[in-house]
Amino acid sequence: MKIIGIIVLCVGVIQGKPFINYTEESTCPGYDACHTVYSDRLNVHLVPHSHDDVGWLYTVDQYYYKRVQYTITTVVRSLLDNPEGRFIQVETAFFYSWWKEQSDETKAQVRQLINEGRLEISNGAWSMNDEADVHYQSTIDQFTLGLRFIEDVLGKCARPKGGWQIDPFGHSREHASLLAQMGMDSLFFARIDYRDRRKRHAEKTSDMLWRSSANLGTSSNIFTSVLYNHYSAPGGFCFDINCSDAPIVTDPDSSEYNWASVVKSFANYVNGQSTHYPTNNVLITMGDDFQWQNAEQYYINLDRLIEGFKKFKPTISDKEINIIYSTPSCYAKAVKDAVEANNIELNVKTDDFFPYADGINSVWSGYFTSRPTSKRLERFANNLHQISKQILALGQKPYNGDNLLSQAMGVMQHHDAITGTEKTMVERDYHKRIAKGMETAISDISTSLTSILGLEIDLNLKLCLLANVSICDESDKDEFTVLIYNPLARTTSHYIQIPVNDGTWKVTGPSGEEVENHLTNPIRNFSYISKITEDKILPKVLFFRAENLPALGYKVYRFEKVSSVSNSVREEAMAVDQMGFEDRYVDFDLDTGLLKSITINGVTLGVKQNMMFYNGSARMTGAYIFRPDTDYRDAIEFGDVQTSVLINDGNIVREVRQMWKDWVTQIIRIYKDEDFIEFDWAVGPVDISDHHGKELITRYSTNLEDTDGVFYTDSNGREIIDRQKDYRPTYRYTNEEPQAGNYYPVNSKILIKDETNEFAVLTDRSEGGSSLNSAEVELMLLRVATDDDSRGVGENLNEQEFAQGLVARGSHFVTLGRITEGNNGRTMAAVERDIAQRKLLQPWVFYTSEETPLEERSFLKKELPPNVHLLTLESWNATGGNTFLIRLEHILENDEDPNLSQEVTIDISDLFDTFTITSMKEFMLAANTPLEESNRFVWPQVVENESSSSPLHKKNRLARDESDLKITLAPMQIRTFVATVEFN
Ligand SMILES: [Zn+2]
Repeated sequence: MKIIGIIVLCVGVIQGKPFINYTEESTCPGYDACHTVYSDRLNVHLVPHSHDDVGWLYTVDQYYYKRVQYTITTVVRSLLDNPEGRFIQVETAFFYSWWKEQSDETKAQVRQLINEGRLEISNGAWSMNDEADVHYQSTIDQFTLGLRFIEDVLGKCARPKGGWQIDPFGHSREHASLLAQMGMDSLFFARIDYRDRRKRHAEKTSDMLWRSSANLGTSSNIFTSVLYNHYSAPGGFCFDINCSDAPIVTDPDSSEYNWASVVKSFANYVNGQSTHYPTNNVLITMGDDFQWQNAEQYYINLDRLIEGFKKFKPTISDKEINIIYSTPSCYAKAVKDAVEANNIELNVKTDDFFPYADGINSVWSGYFTSRPTSKRLERFANNLHQISKQILALGQKPYNGDNLLSQAMGVMQHHDAITGTEKTMVERDYHKRIAKGMETAISDISTSLTSILGLEIDLNLKLCLLANVSICDESDKDEFTVLIYNPLARTTSHYIQIPVNDGTWKVTGPSGEEVENHLTNPIRNFSYISKITEDKILPKVLFFRAENLPALGYKVYRFEKVSSVSNSVREEAMAVDQMGFEDRYVDFDLDTGLLKSITINGVTLGVKQNMMFYNGSARMTGAYIFRPDTDYRDAIEFGDVQTSVLINDGNIVREVRQMWKDWVTQIIRIYKDEDFIEFDWAVGPVDISDHHGKELITRYSTNLEDTDGVFYTDSNGREIIDRQKDYRPTYRYTNEEPQAGNYYPVNSKILIKDETNEFAVLTDRSEGGSSLNSAEVELMLLRVATDDDSRGVGENLNEQEFAQGLVARGSHFVTLGRITEGNNGRTMAAVERDIAQRKLLQPWVFYTSEETPLEERSFLKKELPPNVHLLTLESWNATGGNTFLIRLEHILENDEDPNLSQEVTIDISDLFDTFTITSMKEFMLAANTPLEESNRFVWPQVVENESSSSPLHKKNRLARDESDLKITLAPMQIRTFVATVEFN
């Protein structure tokens, strides 16, 4: 019946009159749009798709204009003619470009295809994000951006039912959890470790249930399927215009006739695949990278293939074959029905899929670090992105889906962008997008903040993007003013570094108070940059502590050079045995110059830290793969380190400078009031004059008790996953690559602990990390390869900048203490959560006009408690600023801290200073699906184990009145609301 209905509709389309007009109220077919499957047949789901990288070997726009536009256009036209056909559209960055160029008639036709389930949006995020190197905040943002666009132009029938992560190089548990929280029913991907794949094929466990959170209970379960043949069409059956496989010829009089034999061999193929999956359903991907540019050709052949099965009726083990056009979500539904009908118990997965190896000696753990400055730029831009969303909302600016920074950040999450696995010219394009986005953001922030404050003179906010290399026009003056904005919803203090000219400086705070400061030298001599760009390198760095920056607010500081007599501290090369303050300090080994111990949080722990490197194996180590040369397995030391210290460096921060080579340097900083030690490192250009690629690492060796190969890494900045050296929980690990095979992505934290103490390193970007020896932690900082690793990018990873090899600078915050008592009555886990947040969303230094009044201001009436994070504050109404998207997050896991890991209730009715929330409607995580409209799969084998009193429980959340502004959060819970507000 359904089919006949669709045929009638289709006739209407051919006549140019779409029957279904787009309205928000239209009923969506959901899974009813799937073609019929049969319990007594083998159901073959043909899934037409094109994998469209948002940049890789070509830029985003090059791919769009050279390829993707033809795919979407011809697929839509073909689908209109072919009611049986199906297609999934995945990357919204491309769909956005395409949509803008379409006529109203085409747009209506696309909506019709969506409303009938013939064109399905899968994933729907701006890009198909990487899963190793992304931070959850950016992942959520880029899904929100993509799905908001989809909802705006296509309506609710287009809401994706599943994730389609077919190309990312390994899979994070947190990503699966985020998809579940968005309301998705399923997740599909291709790349898992070759040993895992082999085992899953043998045991029919490639379809599984993933318990993707250790905190969120059954709501985090998601059906997960590993594709059989990568994401390509079966060999010999690629009917794409770019393939050379024979088309299907149905005319028996033709010398090219092959219909019967093609059907037979396809039946054999699906038979083979079906023996590896748990139900009578198999998913056959019909597509590949940038295919379907001439969709008609593909559909004609698939129509003939399907028709051939009806005609020749091949059977498999006496089972008839039901071959249909399908989609990933239809496959998931069919598996679920089969599981229920036959009481099949699906395999349950609880860890993640890192690192990924596609063969012996080919572990893709290099990309956890590749292009480290690109990875840092993304995290830096996220910091500004969050600030701009907050201030634009406060300034009552409407939601803007065309926001350049939001779009650039969405692109940057792509699995060839943040990963560093793209060609250099594509990386430049990504950076250009981010830079343009940041520039626009600054000007928007400036006008918004000026209007919020009702100032006569524009704040004229400016950035110094090159302050980390001592270039800043705004501070190259004798007087200047900065506005420091704190994006956290709680008060924070922050040590600020500003490049300045030499002299004696007076810093005045908001109440007219003088603020202690001192001048020191830049970490490096950056004159090589000015030789190329002619920018002036400022000779000194001014340090001061911005004390008690108000929650979601700012303080203004004035800088005045009061004398040209230098008050800079003197740097002297000397061996040093101890440096720091009374209760926090570091000790050094006088013989080697290396760190010996750290005293902080009331504990002294032996910590040796050294810069080292692996010699990369030529022709194997590259942008994706990390493979040290087998002749020198272990990391190699650089040798002695020279230290220098600052004399008379005052009371704010004390530092020791270390130099292994002139291209391997670091500053160890001990701050008077911080519960971490900073390791500010600058490495490169890597010396490859010996023709060996090199992977630079920093290694921290502690005197914790034997850690027995156990260490812990964060998953996309959220939950912590335990790692065991030389071991995988779900398959037998073979140790061909003892270093690379034990490397894991570190988005924000890696830690080790014994019975008593804990040692953690927090990063400012994603890096690869491991613990290869007991009580040790290492992180990879920079990689240079002398050859390509043959995984497609076709370029050696040997980054150049300013006419020389890349210099990367970054910072590790190291903290340690007793596990159960870190600082201020908190556990170390709670201390680390706090540091991670302050590192992610740092107070931002805006240079502003001299007239900006010296003052401070918070946009909150009260602070959020330390375990609650205002994850999102953003305008949500596209025409005016009376609705906001607000996400609140509990930032601790169960059992991390006896006090802070409790459920917490906050009343946000009286939270904000400039507006009052009148009601809040709860949504799923990506803010496209109202909570009450979410109807996720419930799997029979899953026991409903959430206590009904828990805030996680959907029933409780649905029972909440929209005017009830008391929100309860359980550990790791994020709650997403669209709030209606009135401005005060
Ligand atoms: Zn890809």
